[in-house]
Amino acid sequence: MTLRPESSSELLIDGKLVPGSGGTFDIINPATEEVIGQAADGTAADMDAAIAAARTAFDTTTWSRDPAFRAKCLRQLRDALQGHVDELREITIAEVGAPHFLTSGPQLEGPIADLGYFADLAENYQWSSDLGRAKPMGIKNDRVVQREAAGVVGAITPWNFPHQINFAKIGPALAAGCTVVLKPAPDTPWCAALVGKVIAEETDVPAGVINIVTSSDHSVGALLSTDPRVDIVSFTGSTATGKKVMIAAAESLKRVFLELGGKSAFIVLDDADLASACSMAGFSVVTHAGQGCAITTRLLVPREKYSEAIAHVRDSMAGLPAGDPTDSGTICGPVISAVQRDRVESYIQLARDEGGTIEVGGGRPANKDKGYFIEPTLISGVENSARVAQEEIFGPVLVIIPHDGDDDAIRIANDSPYGLSGAVWGTDPDRIKKVVDGVRTGTMSINGGIWYSADIPFGGYKQSGIGREMGVAGFEEYLETKAIATPA
Ligand code: NAD
Repeated sequence: MTLRPESSSELLIDGKLVPGSGGTFDIINPATEEVIGQAADGTAADMDAAIAAARTAFDTTTWSRDPAFRAKCLRQLRDALQGHVDELREITIAEVGAPHFLTSGPQLEGPIADLGYFADLAENYQWSSDLGRAKPMGIKNDRVVQREAAGVVGAITPWNFPHQINFAKIGPALAAGCTVVLKPAPDTPWCAALVGKVIAEETDVPAGVINIVTSSDHSVGALLSTDPRVDIVSFTGSTATGKKVMIAAAESLKRVFLELGGKSAFIVLDDADLASACSMAGFSVVTHAGQGCAITTRLLVPREKYSEAIAHVRDSMAGLPAGDPTDSGTICGPVISAVQRDRVESYIQLARDEGGTIEVGGGRPANKDKGYFIEPTLISGVENSARVAQEEIFGPVLVIIPHDGDDDAIRIANDSPYGLSGAVWGTDPDRIKKVVDGVRTGTMSINGGIWYSADIPFGGYKQSGIGREMGVAGFEEYLETKAIATPA
C-alpha cells in the first residue's frame, strides 16, 4: 500500500475511509509554495457522524475493558507506521516544512515509537487499588478504587509537530480505553489522514474507536468542545484558541486538557560557559524555524556580558541560515504559511518600533524567491515588558535581555503570562537548583539537558495550559476514578 493519495486523502469515520462532505482543500508545501495535494474537507455533518461513531464504539463494545487488545492494536499501529516511515518522512517534510533531521526524532520516528510506551502502559497499569477494610459509620467495608476510561475524547491539534501531538493524544487515549475523534490543523491534514488510512487498512482497531476529520474550517473542530457526547477535549494550540475551547466546553461541563503557548526563558548564569550557552540558545530558536511551543525564545544573560553574548548568538545564528527542509543539514526550514510569515515579520517590525536593534537577520533570505522563509533573527535593546518579549512569535526570533544576577533572572523569567518551559546554564549546582526551583514552568533543561521523552510529563503552568501530556500523568488524563465499597 502506498500512502500518498492519488487524488484527495479521506476522512476516517466509523472504520471507513470516506470523502469529505465539503469536497477537498489544497495542501501547500511551505518550502516551495506548490500545491502538493488535496485533503478531504470535513463538515459539521461529518463531525456529527464521527462523534456518533466514537460514542457508539465506547458505549457498546468491549474496547474500554480490554487493555490487552488495546495494547495489541497500538503495537500493530506502531509497526505498520514504521513500515511506511520513509514515505511518511517525505510527506511530513513536504507538508509541514519540517527539517529532515527532525524526522528521525520528534517530527516522526520518535512519536511512532512512543506508541509502544502507551501499549506497555495499558498492559502494566494498576487499574485497581485495594484500600482494604475500614469502618466508616461503624460498619465494616472492603474498599477498592478502580480507574476506568473517561469516554469519548475530542482531540484538536496544531500544525507544528503534527505526528508528535497527534500521537501524544491518540496513544494514551486509546491505551486508556477511550475512543477518539481527531481534528488536525488545516495546514497539516495529510499527517493525520494517512495515519487514518493505516489504521483502517493495517490494524484491528475496531470501527469507531478512532475517527479522523480533516477540515479547512476551524468551526468543525469547535463542535468537539460543545457536543455533549464528547467527555474530554484534549487541545493543543494557541492560548487564544485554548481559552475559546475552555469557554465552549463549560456548557456541557466536559473535562478540558490544554497544551498552549509559551515564551520560555533561557537563563545564563555568570559562571556559565557563555559561548556554549549562546550557541545552544541560537540553535534552539532556529530549529524548525522556531515553531515549537517549548522553544526558549528569551535569552537572559548577565548584564556585564551582554555585548559579548550578542556577538556569540549572532555567530551562532549566522551559521544556521534558513534552508531547504529536505536537506539533511538544514536546521531552520520555512514557517508554515504566508499568514505565519506575515505575523513573524510584523513582530520583527514591532521590535524596531519598540526601540530594539536587529542584531542579525530581520528579513527574508535573499537567496530564496519561493517559500515562507524568515532569516534567524536576534533582537536586542528591549525590556522584558516589550511585546516581542511577552508575546509568542512562533518564528526563528530570539530576544536577548540582560539580568542583574540569579534572583533577577528568575524574576524576569517568571514575568510572563506563560509557564511552559525553560533552560539554565551554569556550573554551581546550588545556584542552578535555586533557578530550577524558582522558575514556574512545566519543564526545565539544565546545561542542555533533553527532557523530551514518552515517559516524561509535558505541560504548562499559568496560561501555557492545564494538565500534562505523555508519561503516566498524560495517560491518567484519560481516566476516570471509581470508588467501590462492599460490606465486609
Ligand atoms: P491554533 O490555536 O490556531 O489552532 C490549533 C487547532 O485548533 C487547529 O486544529 C485549529 O483548526 C483548531 N481551532 C481553531 N479555532 C478553534 C476553535 N474555536 N475551537 C476548536 N478548535 C479550533 O494554533 P496553531 O496556529 O495551529 O498552532 C500554533 C500554536 O500552538 C502556538 O501558540 C503554539 O505554542 C501552540 N502549541 C502548543 C503546544 C504545547 O504542547 N503547549 C504544542 C504545539 C503548539
